[in-house]
Amino acid sequence: MTRATDTRDRGQRFGLCRLHQREEVLCESHVVSKTLHKWFKRQGPPSSAVNVISVAEPSGEMTIAQDGIKAYMLCNEAEQLIGQSERHFKELAFDRFVKAPRQPIVYGPWLARFGISVIWRFLEYGREQFPGWTSVVEMGGDKTAERWRRFLLSKAPDPSPYDLHMIPIVGDGLEIQNYIGTVIETILVRADGDGLYACVTLAKLLLIGTIRDPYRNAWQRTRIEPSGGTWGGAGTEMSVPEMVQRYVECRASTNREALASADALRKRLRRGQSAR
Ligand SMILES: [Zn+2]
Repeated sequence: MTRATDTRDRGQRFGLCRLHQREEVLCESHVVSKTLHKWFKRQGPPSSAVNVISVAEPSGEMTIAQDGIKAYMLCNEAEQLIGQSERHFKELAFDRFVKAPRQPIVYGPWLARFGISVIWRFLEYGREQFPGWTSVVEMGGDKTAERWRRFLLSKAPDPSPYDLHMIPIVGDGLEIQNYIGTVIETILVRADGDGLYACVTLAKLLLIGTIRDPYRNAWQRTRIEPSGGTWGGAGTEMSVPEMVQRYVECRASTNREALASADALRKRLRRGQSAR
């Protein structure tokens, strides 16, 4: 992280807390979610073989970390604030969905808070790590990140107009079946018509944060309401922009390739070479 000052000799690192926007002692924390990475690791093959998170954008910039990408972004207080919604998400949404995908999920404000916190961290991480993301800033990424940050601090009532959507990853094809449940990944997606979406695949669920959304009317029953609501369940007809299905199919078909390169990268890392 560019603005962190390394004071490793004292076991601490000072830098800009991205949530509070002030200099503080920072924790090293997962960009996505420690809890979900732990779950993922426990699943065994094939999941354990693909315990990878990637952050990529169309220019191909990517980071792969076997146990999830970690970064010094937040102070302890910010960690605690985000950690609460993470526990709720794991127990009341993720675990329940994995166990009974046809049951609706009744959720409170924690779901929007968790989803936005993951997507916001991803956006912050990408903006700092990848020079190629300047186009993201031009397309409104800065404004989006600021709105989400204020929402997380309860200084904005909702993340709007940068909505959060949650979708079950479904599909009959073999590639999609092999993809579901085997990946935790974060990818920035550009879509036709000037769309820009931050997509986070959490094994079986897909979270999408809309940075620029020309298809706002195409989403139905996927939006996560900041005050709470009911999501999914048998018989719920969700609709999503066509780009979402295309995205999932594309990820599923490149999954094998990505995993092969992840394996190669891991071997290189083990030999002590740089990942990037
Ligand atoms: Zn802070």
